[in-house]
Amino acid sequence: MLEKMEILDVEKVVRDFEEMTNDAENVQRETLKLILEENGCAEYLQKLGLSGRTDPESFKACVPVVTFKDVEPYIRRVADGDLSPILTGKPITALSRSSGTTQGKSKFLPFNDELMKNTLQIFSTSFAFRNRELPIENGKALQFNYSSKQTKTKGGLPAGTATTHIFRNSQFRNAMKAMQSQSCSPVEVIFGTDLYQSLYCHLLCGLLFREEVQLVSSSFAFSIVFAFRTFEQVWKELCADIREGILSSRVTSPCIRSAMAKLLKPDPELADLIEKKCSGLNNWHRLIPELFPNVKYIYAIMTGSMESYLKKLRHYAADVPLVTADYGASEGWIGANINPTVPPESATYVVLPNIGYFEFIPLKDNIEKHLQDKVNDSFLSVEVEPKPVGLTEVKVGEEYEVIITNFAGLYRYRLGDVVRVTGFHNSTPELKFVCRRNLMLTINFDKITEKDLQLAVEEAAKLISEENMDLVDFSSHVDVSSDPAHCVIYWEISGEVSDEVLQECCNCLDRSFLDHDYVNARKINTIGPLELRVVRKGTFQKILDHYLGLGAALSQFKTPRCVGPTNTQVLQIFCDNVAKNYYSMV
Ligand code: AMP
Repeated sequence: MLEKMEILDVEKVVRDFEEMTNDAENVQRETLKLILEENGCAEYLQKLGLSGRTDPESFKACVPVVTFKDVEPYIRRVADGDLSPILTGKPITALSRSSGTTQGKSKFLPFNDELMKNTLQIFSTSFAFRNRELPIENGKALQFNYSSKQTKTKGGLPAGTATTHIFRNSQFRNAMKAMQSQSCSPVEVIFGTDLYQSLYCHLLCGLLFREEVQLVSSSFAFSIVFAFRTFEQVWKELCADIREGILSSRVTSPCIRSAMAKLLKPDPELADLIEKKCSGLNNWHRLIPELFPNVKYIYAIMTGSMESYLKKLRHYAADVPLVTADYGASEGWIGANINPTVPPESATYVVLPNIGYFEFIPLKDNIEKHLQDKVNDSFLSVEVEPKPVGLTEVKVGEEYEVIITNFAGLYRYRLGDVVRVTGFHNSTPELKFVCRRNLMLTINFDKITEKDLQLAVEEAAKLISEENMDLVDFSSHVDVSSDPAHCVIYWEISGEVSDEVLQECCNCLDRSFLDHDYVNARKINTIGPLELRVVRKGTFQKILDHYLGLGAALSQFKTPRCVGPTNTQVLQIFCDNVAKNYYSMV
């Protein structure tokens, strides 16, 4: 639809969306029917005895809820070149590599034209709502988009991150034009093989088109903060390039150099202007609107683990609105942000009922059962998952794990994300992203979730903000080599902070873990004092480089918040870079 259009008909997109969300239950039924009709001949479904039935009841009775481990052998056969219909009726055209940064291991997932269509649908839906409140005119976008290395599987399928498949697709570029959000960087920059060369050129292109830039964006907020932190280091070099009209020798890629040569010409006036603006800033506050006077908003996923970058982003953005992008994964899209003026901390995502079939595992029952087991002292009892409920059966205020059935061969697949239902838009739920379900610091029976960790870190980091320093990034792990075991938090800080303040940060972190079991275990010392390890500047960049080396892309990068014991390389990087450590004294 989008590729033929000059400008997106936003009113039509909104109308279609309202109609569909008014009838979510039927749309879900129809969507499941379509998925099962298209893929009924696939071996995976054939084996389960659906025998052509496409109704939700038969689907749930025959098809088990699975995790990645269960479907991995099927995906491996696809990757190895088995062309028979294994997971889908039509062949899978590519494999997406998930970032793998949340759990230390990246996964390969099927990608096909249907997922591409879903992508365009969700992008145009949120754009339609966004453009009503924050209209952009014929301008350009400074998009910090990067591709991953694209490899071929043994069977010859292209394999790269989902965002790389999307950026490579011509429909995506047409859609960006239709949404008046065309990137100001040439494609050679997006597809450059060296992240730092691409980043430098994105910044340079942004400056060259500074008057036209209407929006600054990336897939996840981390990349925008990373870009402007880099800008702080390289701005003089960027100005020199603009002044002379010659690209810095740090960019060695011949195709990027020739693409950039077409844009660069000596412009001492612009160089002077940018130099003057940068020199006049106080600690880079308001950097974004100063550089890009016509920017209307900043756009990227800003919820979940990205919330930790909001403080820095707001520092750069000042009064430019921050708008969180949509909710999805390499496995497929889930919901759109249709309330763009809501601050990211309170943002929710409305599920699009026709882009997949969605179910939800209630988590409240789980927690109650867990507590009951403790009361009965039956710690060894196996946790039985409660039955998943359908999209329109979820209850406001409750938390769930998302299960997705998509058009690319995943059936009742546990995504591992925890969401809270905050309300309904017509008859489809609005979800707040809570955290990854199994990302936890846990020693005995305590459970410190990713969200608990984020809140504790936010609280403790206030103490370093008072010293005019900021937290560059953080992570954690459980140290079982001490007796008793204890939690370790890694912090990288933008500058020097006194031992007294850091000791207090450490105490504050320990005090802020409110999990009942953690608090009790700390009292009786079955969990040792929390340890804060301050790492040297640049440590988290080394972590990023490590993941890039494994095939991740900056566009989908998420700092691992809890590093598991098997992720030895990441632990080693931290271990090699500890500058100071503190033990809690609470
Ligand atoms: P990946 O497949 O590597 O891109 O990672 C997908 C994961 O990123 C999801 O399962 C979520 O945990 C996280 N994610 C994606 N979109 C959002 C969002 N809007 N808010 C919070 N987390 C998100």
